[in-house]
Parts: sequence; C-alpha cells; structure tokens
Amino acid sequence: MSEIDETILDSNQISSTDKAGRPIPVTIPIALAPGVTVVYTTRLGGLSTGDFGNLNLGGKSGDDPEAVLSNRIALAEAVGARLSLVSQVHSGRAVDVDEAFEINTPFGFDVSGTRTGATAAEATGEPTEPTMPAEASAEATDAAPHVVEADGQVTAQTGVALGMFAADCLPVLFADPVSGVIGAAHCGRRGLERGVIQSTVDLMAAKGAKPENIVATLGPCICGDCYEVGDEIADTFVKRFPLTKTATRFGGAGIDIAEAARIDLAFAGVHRIVDSVPRIHAATEYLEEDAELAELCRTDGEGPAELSERIAAIRHSMCTLENPLWYSHRRAAKAGKRHEGRLLALIVRH
Ligand SMILES: [Zn+2]
Repeated sequence: MSEIDETILDSNQISSTDKAGRPIPVTIPIALAPGVTVVYTTRLGGLSTGDFGNLNLGGKSGDDPEAVLSNRIALAEAVGARLSLVSQVHSGRAVDVDEAFEINTPFGFDVSGTRTGATAAEATGEPTEPTMPAEASAEATDAAPHVVEADGQVTAQTGVALGMFAADCLPVLFADPVSGVIGAAHCGRRGLERGVIQSTVDLMAAKGAKPENIVATLGPCICGDCYEVGDEIADTFVKRFPLTKTATRFGGAGIDIAEAARIDLAFAGVHRIVDSVPRIHAATEYLEEDAELAELCRTDGEGPAELSERIAAIRHSMCTLENPLWYSHRRAAKAGKRHEGRLLALIVRH
C-alpha cells in the first residue's frame, strides 16, 4: 500500500528529470509526411534553470553548458536521431549537411552550449566565432569542431534530425517524401528578407527534391498581433512581402512573419502546407493541468503567476509571446530580462 502511495506521489512531483537526474524533454511531434516527423520542443523537461528554465537548447545566450548539453543529449535520445544544428546568423544561406555531417560533432555544426563550445568561448571570448574547420579525418573530429553559419539545412539521410533554434523567429520544416530530401529553415525578419526559404528549397531541389512534392509546415513564432517593429521596419518589410504589415495589440506597427513565409513558399513553388496549429492547440489545452508549466509561470515573471490566467489570455497558441509553452525573446525582454532560452524545431526521416 505504501509503495503505491509513493508511486502516486512521484508522478505528481514537479520534476523535469527522471530518477537518475536525466532530463525528460516534453515535445510535440507532428507527422508531416510518410516516415517524416516534425518535433517542437517546449520549455518543459530539461535541466536549465532561472531565465533559461527548463529545456533550453540554445548555447549562445549564457546558459550553463552542462545543462544545455544534457538537454540536447536527452532530446537526441527522445527523437531517436542525431541532431544537426547550425550556428544561426539571420542569413539567407542554406547548407547541405550531408557534405560534412559524418566528420562532425555529435550535434552538427553548432558547438555553442557544449563543453567544446564553452572551452572555445573561454579561449576566444566569442562563442559564435567559427573555430578552425575540421579536415576530413577521424582525428579531427574531437580536436577541431566545425562550426557552420547558416539558416537553412537540408539532408537526404535518415536518422539525422535537422534542428532550428527559435525564440520568436519562425522555423519552417520541409519534406519531399518522394525523393526523401528534408529541410529546415530559420525565418526571422532578416532571414526572410534575405531569401532563406528560397535558398533552402533550391538546395533541396539540387538534391533531387521537386517543389511540387514538398510538404511544409510552419512552427511556433511570434504572431502579427504581437511582433511590434515600428513603422520604418514594417514599411521596408511590406515592400518585400505585401500585406504583412500589422497593427499590434501594443499599439504600434508590426509585421506578420508567418504570412511572409507563406508568400515565399508560394514563390518557391511549395503549395502543400500542413497546419501545425490543431496539434499545438490540443497540446496547449492539455498542458493547462501541467505542474511544471504552472511552476514556470509562478516564477518566470513573464506574465500572470497563474497558468490558467496565461492560458485564458492566449489568442494564438502558436504565438511564442502569448503561449508560456514556448520561449520568447520579446516576452523575456518585456519582463526586463537580458536573455532567454531557445526551443528547437526538428525534422527527421526514419
Ligand atoms: Zn501573439
């Protein structure tokens, strides 16, 4: 009897780790195409603390590298794939990770947030500075991490999860189930302006994908009602992406980056868009009772202390600023914070 009581007590504890202290990432999977899964990570189920709590996967904003590394290892195990991460720089550049993945670090091309990255940061004082590229030899693998700066990735391999960090920017995930080529793009305002969607689709096509076969989905991002940028930036953006200027709920001019992405997807010939919203919406409803999320809301200072109050205020469940499930740079900044965590949007073919 007491054993059963203990079990029940255990399951009710606010814990984002298992009994051995390993993180248990809370993720939202979406079946994008036959054999292809998209996974969105949340703030839940990791070892990060404070402003980064709990499942921060980004290594550039100052979180404890040990926590980030543990979170990434647990995520790779949960997804059942190797993670391919790149050093994102708001560019229009996409890379074919198949050209170099085998010789690389366990996480691809972004060593920030790993022990290696921490050492490199200490040495150079610049965590994002590319270090010496690794040569194609087995010895180089551990000695010289190969950092690649890009905002789009493609692969034709199975078991490699392409990941894009975000905390308001829009991740877009692509799959051509016929050729087996998958892709991921990090679409912030500047990346969109620089054509990251077109360059990702072009690179997929260079590997045998056909735009008409590509299925795409848009991940969580800050919505047009919340992304206030001011008239000057919005007027420039709207010249490139018609009808994307918004009037935000904060009173100033804003932009709708998801709408801009849809425009460029259409220009790139990608017309099969799978909506991630219903799945995210269902997950959000379910998490109304989540003890870990409730604790984050009580302690993060980024909105009302009561989770139910935050959930009730959500008008767009995909919006990173509105939904406490996600990390949001803008929400953290509004709360007076200087840094915040990053989610990962992943795509993998098994
Ligand atoms: Zn919003």
